[in-house]
Amino acid sequence: MKTDFLKKLGLKKVNNGTSTGLKSTNSKVLFKSFSPVDGSYIGSASVTTKKEYDKTVKTAQKAFEKWRLMPAPARGEIVRQYGNELRTHKESLGKLVSYEMGKSLQEGYGEVQEMIDICDFAVGLSRQLYGLSMHSERPMHRMYEQWHPLGIVGIISAFNFPVAVWSWNAMIAMVCGDVCIWKPSEKTPLSAIACQNILQKVLKANNVPEGVSCIINGDATAGQYLTEDKRIPLVSATGSTRMGKAVAATVGARLGKSLLELGGNNAIIVTPKADMKLVLTGGVFGAVGTAGQRCTSTRRMIIHESIYDTVKKKLATAYKQIKIGNPLDPKMHMGPLIDRDAVENYLSALIKIREQGGNFLVSGGSIKNKKGGCYVKPAIAEVTPDMDIVQTETFAPILYLMKYKTLDQAIKIQNNVPQGLSSAIMTDSLKEAELFLSVAGSDCGIANVNIGTSGAEIGGAFGGEKETGGGRESGSDSWKAYMRRQTNTLNYSKTVPLAQGIKFDL
Ligand code: NAD
Repeated sequence: MKTDFLKKLGLKKVNNGTSTGLKSTNSKVLFKSFSPVDGSYIGSASVTTKKEYDKTVKTAQKAFEKWRLMPAPARGEIVRQYGNELRTHKESLGKLVSYEMGKSLQEGYGEVQEMIDICDFAVGLSRQLYGLSMHSERPMHRMYEQWHPLGIVGIISAFNFPVAVWSWNAMIAMVCGDVCIWKPSEKTPLSAIACQNILQKVLKANNVPEGVSCIINGDATAGQYLTEDKRIPLVSATGSTRMGKAVAATVGARLGKSLLELGGNNAIIVTPKADMKLVLTGGVFGAVGTAGQRCTSTRRMIIHESIYDTVKKKLATAYKQIKIGNPLDPKMHMGPLIDRDAVENYLSALIKIREQGGNFLVSGGSIKNKKGGCYVKPAIAEVTPDMDIVQTETFAPILYLMKYKTLDQAIKIQNNVPQGLSSAIMTDSLKEAELFLSVAGSDCGIANVNIGTSGAEIGGAFGGEKETGGGRESGSDSWKAYMRRQTNTLNYSKTVPLAQGIKFDL
């Protein structure tokens, strides 16, 4: 595999895993990044030590003192320039994301496009960080609220979106006046360092103080530096529910803020009024796209009993056409899982499905003769909603099929899991669609009609309820999570009237 894109992104065989933006430090401990595509060694990053971490925080704190004073539209201008640099590097960065994570090249490019989109969004936002003004009950008083930056935002990200999720957080936080320390997934360190290299150039050209955007590398221990640290007012963490519970407990114990984007268990309800073409495209992409390693991947299909057999047959036929192989080859639909542990988790889930009484329509299994050893076949299992395995997110291409009789029952099945990220209904009936979207409908953060569960646009607030963590990132008014609200009351009279008419005369 030709890897000239690494050079274009300023990556070496051994990369500094700790950087405050302009200067970098380099610990002796290295960890290696191997491509799940062909098992090749791509490069290494140094693990951030506690000492380096403390230095990074101090530099970030200093940078915040200056960055927060810069007018928000001027910060937006820097984000605009970063968006332009990403346009220039879209091809190289997209290829690296695809090669290091294993998603299709189209999705790798899509991830960089998402970064560009959020830059554009953040530039506009930099002129729209509005507060409300309200009428005071006291004469000659003015009351309003304004939003100030928080300080250092700690960003912990997952392997499956190695770059886009960071940019959702960092670009918004930066226009809000915060500075960021990013702890990327230990499975995709090079994609993160490449983003930082590109941003570094822009920050340097604009004489921005060192420390506005920092990176630390390592496993959960490096993440814990952020969660345990009182100097980090907000930790935004994306990953498994297991990780989110640990982060919430640690950050909560010091009364810090956490923004959690955790696991999903996403379902599509297919009603007798569904357009079958949409069901197949939305459903199959949702289940096998990114090899089932999206937080929004379709895990469950809840199908009306009258069309169950038809849908089942069509899915089985569609799955026969799925081409599995090198994700950089545009003819392939599905690439590898991230690593061998992920393959083991997938295989053990297949065993559990059988043990719990599931019946395989498409049997799945690992593909042994492909380089890297991380390729698997997608599986479809017929199950009942109450089975333990159906309640769990297995981060792999397994689709569960189940039957329903009434739409109320389908909605109950869809909601009756611990997670609450993404959901969809396939129907041409307005009544069915509206019921699904109503308060008696889906309990998820994302509810779609006639599109699948997978993927989202940056303009909407992204996130989910229950064990998905409750956080919202990206569009809409998610920016408020990165700022502190201040209510101001200003008296321009010559007396001091008290609220609620309380009398206090001296
Ligand atoms: P993971 O939980 O194993 O790791 C995620 C990140 O958390 C990594 O950077 C890891 O080093 C760090 N981490 C782990 N334990 C930690 C701890 N105790 N303290 C601090 N940091 C810690 O997740 P993963 O395997 O990389 O990603 C897959 C998971 O992420 C899936 O569950 C998926 O649904 C979820 N995800 C959710 C969203 C969302 O927006 N809801 C988006 C992408 C991925």
